[in-house]
Amino acid sequence: MLRIIEAVVKLSLSKSFAQLARTAEKSKSSVAVSKDPLEIPPLEIHTLGNKGLRQNARRISKVDESIRELARNMLRSMYSAKGIGLAAPQIGVHKQLLVIDLDLESSSTPPLILINPEISGASASLETYEEGCLSIPGVYLNVVRPSAITLSYRDEMGRPKKMKADGLIARCIQHEMDHLNGVLFVDRVSNEEELQNALKENGFNNQHVNPIL
Ligand SMILES: [Zn+2]
Repeated sequence: MLRIIEAVVKLSLSKSFAQLARTAEKSKSSVAVSKDPLEIPPLEIHTLGNKGLRQNARRISKVDESIRELARNMLRSMYSAKGIGLAAPQIGVHKQLLVIDLDLESSSTPPLILINPEISGASASLETYEEGCLSIPGVYLNVVRPSAITLSYRDEMGRPKKMKADGLIARCIQHEMDHLNGVLFVDRVSNEEELQNALKENGFNNQHVNPIL
């Protein structure tokens, strides 16, 4: 009798371990890195005035290990700067690659990697939200954008994906996608006076703004 119970316990234990392993496999990201800030981040983030920020990014034709390593280094630099999103042109690489992570507190939440993202739909409803940018540190200003979007992209394994987003994640994706077209959030700020003051206070030149309104 004891033996049977033991066997049953063993069976259920091994089953739950297998389940655990499967769940861990599912949530494991092949690009996740430690979210702890580094003293010397691997990549330098360029700031307003750098011409590279105004260049268009090219599509990535093959998602391989070099792209994943670039994404990891972008994440390390983003976490070190306490940012929630970073686009490859911000570190001088003109490829359509974005890294996003809205949960800097939890080490187990995987980051979102967007390769060749394309917006296929945007809501008619607009939202005003205060944005900031690792390329324009210290400047936080209101920007109006669609409140929800649908997009297609490739993930870090090159798999085609589709997603619907609203709230902060939709905002973040739109901001980062602008970087791929050489657009910065200050180009979209309509309050001219607030823009001039914020740029001046943080040591930036307003001649580097390209208004698109
Ligand atoms: Zn930005």
